[in-house]
Amino acid sequence: MLEETTLRLPKVITSGPLVFDNELPFRAFLERLPAGAYTCDADGLITYFNQHAVQLWGRKPTLNDPKDRFCGSFKLFAMDGSPILHDQCWMALALKNLREYNGHEIMIERPDGQRLTALAHASPIHNELGRLIGGVNVLVDISDRKRSEDALKEADRAKNEFLATLAHELRNPLAPIRAAVKILQIQSPTPESLSALDVIERQTRQMTRLIDDLLDVARITSNKLELRRERIELREVLKAAVETSRPLIEQRGHKLSVRSPSAPIHVDGDPVRLAQVISNLLNNAAKYTERGGRIWLSATRKGNEAVIKVRDTGIGISTEVMPQIFQMFTQADRTVHGSSGGLGIGLSLVKRLIEMHGGAITAQSDGPGKGSEFIVRVPTASASFSQPEILTEVGATESTKPIRILVVDDNQDSADSLGLLLKLLGNEVRVAHDGLEAVALANEFQPRVVLLDIGLPTLNGFEAAERIRQQPWGKQAVMIAVTGWGESVDRQRSKKAGFDYHLFKPVDPDVLTRLLQSL
Ligand code: ADP
Repeated sequence: MLEETTLRLPKVITSGPLVFDNELPFRAFLERLPAGAYTCDADGLITYFNQHAVQLWGRKPTLNDPKDRFCGSFKLFAMDGSPILHDQCWMALALKNLREYNGHEIMIERPDGQRLTALAHASPIHNELGRLIGGVNVLVDISDRKRSEDALKEADRAKNEFLATLAHELRNPLAPIRAAVKILQIQSPTPESLSALDVIERQTRQMTRLIDDLLDVARITSNKLELRRERIELREVLKAAVETSRPLIEQRGHKLSVRSPSAPIHVDGDPVRLAQVISNLLNNAAKYTERGGRIWLSATRKGNEAVIKVRDTGIGISTEVMPQIFQMFTQADRTVHGSSGGLGIGLSLVKRLIEMHGGAITAQSDGPGKGSEFIVRVPTASASFSQPEILTEVGATESTKPIRILVVDDNQDSADSLGLLLKLLGNEVRVAHDGLEAVALANEFQPRVVLLDIGLPTLNGFEAAERIRQQPWGKQAVMIAVTGWGESVDRQRSKKAGFDYHLFKPVDPDVLTRLLQSL
């Protein structure tokens, strides 16, 4: 039996402390609320609850019973699943701290084990004299909303996982295609077929870029984007970025001016990701500028910051679009660049990468047709310089002596096409498709260079490398690890296994040839 209480209608409900100043029964008011509601006295004993509260709790607590102090629910949990004692619930806190707690999520477990999620709104109640006389807690059941949210999150997670798998699978065929194109370019007799091969090469590059963006989106949304930091010189990053963007800039007939810093600027950053940032900005400048435009790239030091600017004479950015420019999937005008366009991911990725480096990026434009400028700032490091372990670009040298090379990859097309390409470039090449075969073949062939895929059957790349290094001839071999873009580089493991260099798939034939020439 519910007991009549002496609680009365509050004068002020939405702001300030709850104060009672007339005799209207409070219960009638709470009865009509479309939510669970209950009151406690100043000691936390329950003095009233409505029918909605009973539905939420799945039970009826005993009024004025110390066993049901502060809350009528069977058990309570925080949203992370940790249990909450009744004397730590929002009602208890409101009475103890004499303040309101509004809209806090809490999980209620009923005696039958069912769990519901509610929003608690707990407030202390004072009489006209300002004395604490109790508290009221209104519980809004949000279980359905929570379930929909969880379902959405799960669907989003599944979508991201699918995206990552898709990108990964799409990426694999690109390495053999690029190697096969190189082979045909070397052997191609006619200018027509050479130009056709150029088309395939350009488009494959473009596809690789799009797929890499897709992979990165999946990583951003699941917070799996990682930096591989090291002490780097900004000039090197600029050089790598320009190399990557040069084909597009040339294809669009633009003139690019690069102003590198006269003195070295060092940054503790991920060289691959920083080069990706700059080349992304350069590619955008090339894409969003009418043919034959101008692009400027510069890097300077300002105090403790490196400032990198990419400016163009292109279509510019309107003031309406400007605030959204760094948001994912923002594209001002899809018709401008047609098929050479992107996914509207580039700038949000750039922003995220720069922020991960502790820096910031801003954009400015005087409006449509007036060009754009993107300014990147990243903190500089002190002047000492350690050699990067991950290779992005290697300076060309003249020598082209034949080299004994062992290519190991479980993707047969990748291994065979790269092997054939290296052979056509005048080297002596053997190919293996798993770890054990690689070790056996290496012993027999004693290569000068071993290109080892890391994800191999029978014996992984690290184990194979260790075994090869143990051979007397293996001490002098140049070992190059090859990993998928998605795999993180375990440097400790890589060093222990004895790798000298690290390349990412798909291995760019040009980068590899230059590396070989430099040996
Ligand atoms: P995408 O290029 O794939 O569309 P981005 O995230 O790189 O995606 O760029 C988002 C949008 O910002 C572009 O669609 C374009 O409208 C605008 N934008 C980016 N860079 C420039 C630039 N240099 N000049 C004019 N507009 C640009």
